[in-house]
Amino acid sequence: MVQPYRHEPFTDFTVEENAKELEAALHQVEQELGQDYPLIIGGERIYTDDKITSINPNNKNEVVGTVSKANKELAEKAMKTADETFEWWRKSTPEMRADILFRAAAIVRRRKHEFNAWAIKESGKAWKEADGDVAEGIDFLEYYGRQMLEIAEGKEINSRPIENNRFSYIPLGVGLVISPWNLLFAIMCGTAVSPMVTGNTVLLKPASNSPVIAYKFMEVMEEAGMPSGVINYIPGSGSEVGDYLVEHPRTRFVSFTGSREVGVNIFEKAAKVQEGQKWLKRVVAEMGGKDTIVVDNEADLELASQAIVQSAFDFSGQKCSSGSRAVIHQDVYDDVLDRVVEITKGLDIGDTSKKNYYMGAVIDQSAYDKIMSYMDVGKEEGRLMIGGDGDDTNGYYINPTVFADLDPNSRMQQEEIFGPIVGITKAKDFNEAIDIANNTDYGLTGAVISNNRNHLEIAREDFHVGNLYFNRGCTSAIVGYHPFGGFDMSGTDSKAGGPDYLYNFLQGKTVSEML
Ligand code: NAP
Repeated sequence: MVQPYRHEPFTDFTVEENAKELEAALHQVEQELGQDYPLIIGGERIYTDDKITSINPNNKNEVVGTVSKANKELAEKAMKTADETFEWWRKSTPEMRADILFRAAAIVRRRKHEFNAWAIKESGKAWKEADGDVAEGIDFLEYYGRQMLEIAEGKEINSRPIENNRFSYIPLGVGLVISPWNLLFAIMCGTAVSPMVTGNTVLLKPASNSPVIAYKFMEVMEEAGMPSGVINYIPGSGSEVGDYLVEHPRTRFVSFTGSREVGVNIFEKAAKVQEGQKWLKRVVAEMGGKDTIVVDNEADLELASQAIVQSAFDFSGQKCSSGSRAVIHQDVYDDVLDRVVEITKGLDIGDTSKKNYYMGAVIDQSAYDKIMSYMDVGKEEGRLMIGGDGDDTNGYYINPTVFADLDPNSRMQQEEIFGPIVGITKAKDFNEAIDIANNTDYGLTGAVISNNRNHLEIAREDFHVGNLYFNRGCTSAIVGYHPFGGFDMSGTDSKAGGPDYLYNFLQGKTVSEML
C-alpha cells in the first residue's frame, strides 16, 4: 500500500541549518556549471553542433550549461522512437509506471537542495521560490502516481444478463510536451510524467531558458527505472522543433504551458488534420493570466496589503498566477495603497545565487526590455508610486513597481506584463470591483479580501476564474489541494494537480461480450 498523499513540506530558510545546506548545494552546483548536455532519444545521448546556452539571469556572464539543440531531423528520429516505444509501453502495468514516479520523487527529495540550486541558477529565483518549485515537482510525481493507481481500479458499468461489459481507460499515443521556464522544474516534470504514467510516450521540449534542470530530471527518471524511449528529451527552438512536431501527423496530443500567443498558435495548428493523420489531436494549453486581487471595504487591510505585495512580487511577478492587478474599494483605497508602497520599500533584490534575497533578476534580456517598456506606459496611464527602474548591467534586475489610479481598461490593467509590476484601480463598491476583476480576456486566478460573507458568496458565483482564493493571495496553488487551470484565454482549464487531470491523456474503451 502506498502512503496517503500529502504535499511536500516547504523548507524554512530562517533555520540556519537549512540555509547552510542550500549554500552548500549552490557551491556544489557552481563546480558543475558550464557543462555540455546532449539530447536523449531512446536513451541514446546525441550531441549537436548547434547549442542552446543557458545562463544565470542574476549574473549574465555565468553559463549554467550548454545544451544540444534538436533540429527537424532529430525531432523526426525522436518521434519514430516514441512511436515504436508506445507499442509496448501502452501495455505496461499502471503499477510499474506509478512505481517509477514514486522512486523518482524519493530521488528528487533526497537531492532537493541540489535541485533548488539548479533552479536558482537557471531562473534567478529566490530560495523559497525554488524550494516551492521543486516541492511541486515532487508533489506531481507522488500525486499522479496515486491517481494512476486509482484509475487502474476501473469504474463500474452495468451488464445485462446476456452480456459481460467492461469499461477501461487506455493511453492515446505519442504526446508533445512543451514547457515554460517559470516553473522550470515543477511544470516540466508534471507535464512530462502525467502522460507517461498513463501509458503514453513523450517528446519533451523544455523552454530554451531552462533546459539544464530538465536534463537533470531525465537522469532522475532513468535512475528510477524509466525505460529508454518513454520520455525523449529534445530541447530546441519552439518555432522550429515545436512547430514541426505540433503539425506532425503522428502526434496524438500536445500538452503546452506558456504564453497566450504561442498557445493559440499551437491550438490552431494542431486542429488542422494533416495528410496521413488518423485522429483529431487533443490539445491541453495552459496560458497566461491577468490576475486580480479584490479588496473590500470590510476587510483586514494588513492582510490585503501583504497579499497584494506577495502575489505581485514573488518570483518578480513571473508566475501565471501573479497578482498583477489590485482593485480596491474607494473607502480603503488610500490606506491600502500607502501600506502596499511601504511594504514594497522593504523588499530586497539581488543575486539569489549568492544570498537569500526576496527577489532576483527577471529571466532574460527580452523579458527585461518588455517589462521596462511598460514603465513608460504606466507613467502615461497612471501614477508611479514606487519602483519604475531597473539595471541590466550584470543581471536583469527590475525593482518592484506599483502604479496607482489606473483605468480598468488601460493597457497596464489588460495586458500580461509578466514582471514585478502591480497596477491598482479604485472601485466605487464591491460589485463594481468584481466587474472590473472580470474585465479581461483571461480567467486564471483571483483573490478576494473581505470579511463580508455575502460578498464572498457573490464572488464565489460571479468572479470568473479557474482558481479563486478568499482572504489570501492569488498564487501558490498546491498539487492535490488546489487543482490548477484557467478559464477563457488562460487556457483549457485542464486542472493540473487535480483528480481529473490524467484523463486528458486517456481514452475510454468499452468491451461488451455476449454470453
Ligand atoms: P512561451 O514563450 O510561450 O514559451 C513556452 C514554451 O513554448 C517554450 O518551451 C517555448 O520554446 C515554446 N514555444 C515557443 N514558440 C513555439 C512554437 N511556435 N511552437 C511550439 N512551441 C513554442 O512562454 P514562456 O515565456 O516560457 O512562459 C511564460 C508564459 O507562460 C506566461 O504567459 C505565463 O502566464 C504562462 N504560464 C502559464 C501557466 C499556466 O498554468 N496557465 C503556467 C506557467 C506559465 P522556446 O523557449 O524555445 O521559445
